[in-house]
Amino acid sequence: MTSPSGAHLAFDDFDVLLSGDAESPLHAPAEAHLAGCNQCRAELAAQSTLIARLESLPFFSPSLAFSDLVLQRVALPDPFALRSLATSRKRLLASRRSLVAVSVVLCAVVGTMLASVMWTLANPDAVSSVGTWAGNTASQWLWVAIRGGFANIVEQPWLGTAQAWFATPLRLALLSLGITLIYVGGLVALRRLMALPRAGAAHA
Ligand SMILES: [Zn+2]
Repeated sequence: MTSPSGAHLAFDDFDVLLSGDAESPLHAPAEAHLAGCNQCRAELAAQSTLIARLESLPFFSPSLAFSDLVLQRVALPDPFALRSLATSRKRLLASRRSLVAVSVVLCAVVGTMLASVMWTLANPDAVSSVGTWAGNTASQWLWVAIRGGFANIVEQPWLGTAQAWFATPLRLALLSLGITLIYVGGLVALRRLMALPRAGAAHA
């Protein structure tokens, strides 16, 4: 036997019936529908049984040490997903093949830098024009950039000094070498800094 309107009880209606809230405006219509609907009566009985069984379950209250015991079993990943420098070095030097690869890369990098410096020293005339052009261009860009912001402060005289300094190929080569060394040093320092948190144990 179904409801005259064709619509069965909604969740809110069941809530009102199960809580026994007779003051709710939903209560009287819900009761009226329930009297003529077997399906909703069965649904109400099922929900009532479920609630009774849930309420009969023992209350689970873990001990204070529970969270610590759980965290002891949790394997926290490396926050930066980076191995320490020592581990990387050990892995790199582990096999003969990787040792050769590291040597080749090191030789290529250092050799290229040395060859660049040597060639620059051995061919001052050939580099001179390029160096002068690069130096002039660099100092011109630098000058334009500085003038844009500090037009009222910076005066002309040291432009000639800067141009003369950058125009020397040896100084350019040494400058690039120095910048490269500082960059590599910074990378190594960064790796060490990021590897430090790995040593610490996880805390709750
Ligand atoms: Zn119904």
